[in-house]
Amino acid sequence: MPHPFTWVPAAEQRHVSRDPVPPPGMEFPDGVVVSTLCGREVTSATGELAWLWTTCPSCDDAAREIVGAPPRPEISSERGEHA
Ligand SMILES: [Zn+2]
Repeated sequence: MPHPFTWVPAAEQRHVSRDPVPPPGMEFPDGVVVSTLCGREVTSATGELAWLWTTCPSCDDAAREIVGAPPRPEISSERGEHA
């Protein structure tokens, strides 16, 4: 298991859940109620459109903390490249 959590599109955002994914275990099937890292209970969605929903910022932060990734950089078109 590469990560102890799963991204799941639900409620028109892409959330992260630590709930166990039913076999084959790649992603949640449509219509499953999952608890998300942002503390909500949402019903999973599937399909290409669902994966285009925006990322839930709370879940994104929580997932980054779990894997030890640095916080998401502020999105700014004015900053240009750093370094
Ligand atoms: Zn969320």
